[in-house]
Amino acid sequence: MKIAILSRKASLYSTNRLKEAGEARGHEVHVIDYLRCYMNITSHKPSIIFQGKSLTGIDAVIPRIGASRTFYGTAVVRQFEMMDVFPANESQGISRSRDKLRCLQLLSREGIGLPVTAFAHSTKDVEGVISTVGGAPLIVKLLEGTQGIGVVLCETKKAAESVIEAFRGLDANILAQEFIKEAGGMDIRCFVVGGKVIAAMKRQGAEGEFRSNIHRGGSAEKIKITPEERSTATRAAKAMGLNVAGVDLLRSNHGPVVMEVNSSPGLEGIENSTGIDVAGKVIDFLEKNAKPGNTKDRAKG
Ligand code: ADP
Repeated sequence: MKIAILSRKASLYSTNRLKEAGEARGHEVHVIDYLRCYMNITSHKPSIIFQGKSLTGIDAVIPRIGASRTFYGTAVVRQFEMMDVFPANESQGISRSRDKLRCLQLLSREGIGLPVTAFAHSTKDVEGVISTVGGAPLIVKLLEGTQGIGVVLCETKKAAESVIEAFRGLDANILAQEFIKEAGGMDIRCFVVGGKVIAAMKRQGAEGEFRSNIHRGGSAEKIKITPEERSTATRAAKAMGLNVAGVDLLRSNHGPVVMEVNSSPGLEGIENSTGIDVAGKVIDFLEKNAKPGNTKDRAKG
């Protein structure tokens, strides 16, 4: 197969591992900077031009779209879809997962466990929002945040009111969420490929930190997950229409709850902590599924 990895840099761990795994299986793998692609949008022969040449003969693409480049990145993936090229994740699924609110709404429709979450536009409704999630302590989260930035633990109702008003004063969109205290700063990243959890790790926040993000000093370790966690993760990936997904779960008193679903999950932490050849599993999935026109997104919304 001829595989294109849509990534800004060939030297990134995940990009490099996917390339290696593809080549080890005898495929021709190209790393393509999607920001340097331009598109010819025409109905009889849609095409993508990269480094002055039209990209032809590609069987599959692996999108590795950065959070800040979702708009252009998904447009490039969509163009490949128009050309009948099979994407590891479709553009629609990537767009859905990038919006935390949309993601939670879609998961709730499927009855997947979530922390109680509220969303409002006006600060006049702050009281109601706080009581909806069970009062303090609660989490207030920026809708556009990543790597734990903009996730605030508010110990009191007064603090929550101030934080919500401050964020809203800056015109930022925020979610209020039940604080899952019993998670103890630990979350579980389930790596889903083709409807199966192929690897799982737990991430533990640094001492005194409720956020488990590795970027915030957290550490990762292999974990054995329960059947309920496994099915929650696979259902979440399916609800988002993602073949390759990193599903983050918290262990709550009312079972596993999904924090978020990532459409370009990193490979470094999960491969190093579990020893599993995650990149190889992604290529295996492409080998089984990459047929022209096999890009049917059936999720609604
Ligand atoms: P980001 O996308 O910025 O990483 P998350 O929503 O995943 O933001 O939150 C970052 C971390 O904060 C999570 O991995 C988790 O450890 C912790 N966290 C987030 N929401 C909650 C919550 N409702 N209860 C307990 N801990 C939470």
